[in-house]
Amino acid sequence: MLENLSQRINKALHLLKGYGQITEINVAETTKEIRRSLLDADVNFKLAKEFTNKVKEKAIGQNVLQTLNPGQLFTKIVRDELAELMGAEASEMNLGKNPSVILMSGLQGSGKTTISAKLSNYLKKKKGKNPLLVAADVYRPAAITQLHMLGRQVGIDVYSEKDNKNPLDIAKNSIKQARSHNHNVIIIDTAGRLSIDQEMMDEISAIHTALEPEETLFVVDSMTGQDAITTAKNFNEVLNFDGVVLTKLDGDTRGGAALSIKNVINKPIKFIGTGEKIDDIDIFHPDRMADRILGMGDVISLVEKAQEQFDVEESKRLKRKISKDQFGLDDYLSQIKKLKKIGKMKDIIGMIPGANNIKDIEIDDGIFKTTEAIIQSMTPTERSQPKIIDSRRKKRIANGSGTNVEEVNKLMKQFQQMGKMMKMMKGPGGKSKMIDMLG
Ligand code: GDP
Repeated sequence: MLENLSQRINKALHLLKGYGQITEINVAETTKEIRRSLLDADVNFKLAKEFTNKVKEKAIGQNVLQTLNPGQLFTKIVRDELAELMGAEASEMNLGKNPSVILMSGLQGSGKTTISAKLSNYLKKKKGKNPLLVAADVYRPAAITQLHMLGRQVGIDVYSEKDNKNPLDIAKNSIKQARSHNHNVIIIDTAGRLSIDQEMMDEISAIHTALEPEETLFVVDSMTGQDAITTAKNFNEVLNFDGVVLTKLDGDTRGGAALSIKNVINKPIKFIGTGEKIDDIDIFHPDRMADRILGMGDVISLVEKAQEQFDVEESKRLKRKISKDQFGLDDYLSQIKKLKKIGKMKDIIGMIPGANNIKDIEIDDGIFKTTEAIIQSMTPTERSQPKIIDSRRKKRIANGSGTNVEEVNKLMKQFQQMGKMMKMMKGPGGKSKMIDMLG
């Protein structure tokens, strides 16, 4: 996520840390380099200049050069300014009504339909809501089908009217449908166009006026850079929307939209789309994003994601098993599966402080698949008592999983290493602080 920008800014800051003594000249050089990185990330000239001027002002104000660790303090100033630029604090949605209406706006291809489904799933799973998705894009039958498909995938009802070509009618009818079926949130996916178009604006504006949504969200593809800002301005003039959703932040977007949108239209980024899968949606936390850009890692998000996967009961059970030396291959597999759910290896690594320097590393998520296949080819006894797996059994397991004995051996070795690590965690007396960290 925003890898290029991150690398450039970090390089600039390294420049500063590398000097034995920091002088005003070094600071000037570093800020200039930061400004260049922002410009290359597609932040407009005025904003980039304002940003670096602010950083410089603060550095002078806090007398950076006189402090014990000028490089670190300067980094902190840049980090705080970046967070401020992106909105300082995460912005919640208002969903107090029953039903609450969320109106999704944006250009065609921005990811509106995808994020509508992701959002409905998020509200259902994380906020205990009972959402209704509404297909109001009457011009593209494919969009209606797509929404139905996504709705089915997440078990959320979708409302559409096959022969009705009036999106305002459909939107109004969806409220009746929600009331009669106890849906407390309605997410309306509207029609987009490839570019700003008066008819589209009139249409969405009419829905906006009639339904008075509690949340009107503007969805924008972060890969579109400065164009994203222009489109946002146009939509905001008509809808005065409540917040922005930035999609496709997982791609090699330069980041200009994420950095400029709050400043230019003064509306918060509420959610980000980080992939094509239904769970690839996150609340936007400006401070965490700033940390990630500066390679400070986003430990909080990582812990939150991990907590979602590892519940307390499960970790207690695991703890018991480890202390009794009963941790088997089934447990190993279930832990690996959870890791997989937290995200792609590359994304996880990006959240670890300092790890964003690992640039060219190719992380093979396919390794999970092989491990899974091998363990699934074992009998339950083999999984719980891996010691009985001899070479004859290995051959059978390799055949069954479509791998080879070498790969089975590799897995067994990894498992043994994990066992050793766990014994160390247990400590000689059978108790240790590390094991308590599990829950
Ligand atoms: P709409 O026309 O605005 O409704 O856009 P769609 O929801 O149909 O999305 C357009 C394309 O972008 C589809 O191929 C989606 O799979 C893809 N897409 C949407 N959100 C994301 C995202 O966060 N990351 C990535 N990589 N692709 C996305």
